[in-house]
Amino acid sequence: MSNLRLRDLSGIPDYRPGKAALPSPMGASTHKLSSNENPYPPLPSVVEALHSAAQLMNRYPETAASELTAELRSRFAVDAANLVLGSGSVEIVSQLIRATAGEGDEVVFAWRSFEAYPMLTLAAGAVPVPVPLTADHRHDLDAMLAAITERTRLVLVCNPNNPTGTTVGQAELDRFLSRVPEDVTVVIDEAYVQFNRRADSPQGIDYFRRHSNVAVAHTFSKAYGLAGLRVGYAIAPAPLATAMRKVALPFGVTSLAQAAAVASLRAEDELAVRVDYLVRERTRVAEALRKQGWKLPESEANFLWFPLGPDTTAAAAEFEARGLMVRPFAGEGFRVTVAETEANDRIIEAAAAVLKGARITQP
Ligand SMILES: *Cc1c(COP(=O)(O)O)cnc(C)c1O
Repeated sequence: MSNLRLRDLSGIPDYRPGKAALPSPMGASTHKLSSNENPYPPLPSVVEALHSAAQLMNRYPETAASELTAELRSRFAVDAANLVLGSGSVEIVSQLIRATAGEGDEVVFAWRSFEAYPMLTLAAGAVPVPVPLTADHRHDLDAMLAAITERTRLVLVCNPNNPTGTTVGQAELDRFLSRVPEDVTVVIDEAYVQFNRRADSPQGIDYFRRHSNVAVAHTFSKAYGLAGLRVGYAIAPAPLATAMRKVALPFGVTSLAQAAAVASLRAEDELAVRVDYLVRERTRVAEALRKQGWKLPESEANFLWFPLGPDTTAAAAEFEARGLMVRPFAGEGFRVTVAETEANDRIIEAAAAVLKGARITQP
């Protein structure tokens, strides 16, 4: 028997990865729609950059990531002092939490939102303060404001929100930020910003410029299709950025990830065509589902949220039996990624089949 003296981590839920696409029992092709990945293969120019970078993988990556930092500096017109890189924006969120909150400090976020928020908060020894979404699945910024106490160090605003796809608008974010104490950091997690077409959408970078307590988190995993390489970044006030670097995973962004990120930024026009297509598909699928009678929240991300409540597990099983892997949250709903046309057509079919099944009470 082991008698290792471990930390008590029993309060931290295990991370559940998105289900892989297993062979479908009906023999049809299967689609992994459970992790909001980009369905397209990497661009040839990105693969080429990776081939060159591979020649140097006996060396440690450059911690300053000078080429990637230079690209980001010119694109956002910020100083290198404001840029922090991480092994995916999950690590960026981890750095933000650990740079601001220690034992007993509070981290406020909407719930349900990104699964990593409570886990990373607990791992830092801090206290998660989840604030329920409104009845229409949106951030309740007034309630989040009311949840701020003397112990609050960080507030996470996920825009668009994972898993509901809902957004915050400029006016409500302005009002919120004018009332958050200036010594509390507000992070705008914009993992899906490229998919957000809301006309009055706040751009995190503008808020970073206007407020001394706002940081923005971005990732190359979703719109840029580099989920397997692990690279994300924050644009943050310099003192916060300095603190984040102290708690960062050393050499957390590999030379391959840096090279692919640079190549992706340079190929942005090509990538934008793909993002635009996914946005059009999101609209097409959402319209088809609403015609079927589904009441889904307006999504500005590359996924849709089915608020199925007690019917979630049965409906997810129906999708999975048809080879569509979704991300269910029992008792609440499931999230399904908008992907290539064929997968999206099958989402529409599966949703119709779910409605036909007598077990389902929505709509
Ligand atoms: C996917 C996602 C991220 C980032 O993931 P990485 O792959 O670690 O960059 C961050 N925030 C939210 C809300 C996400 O959905």
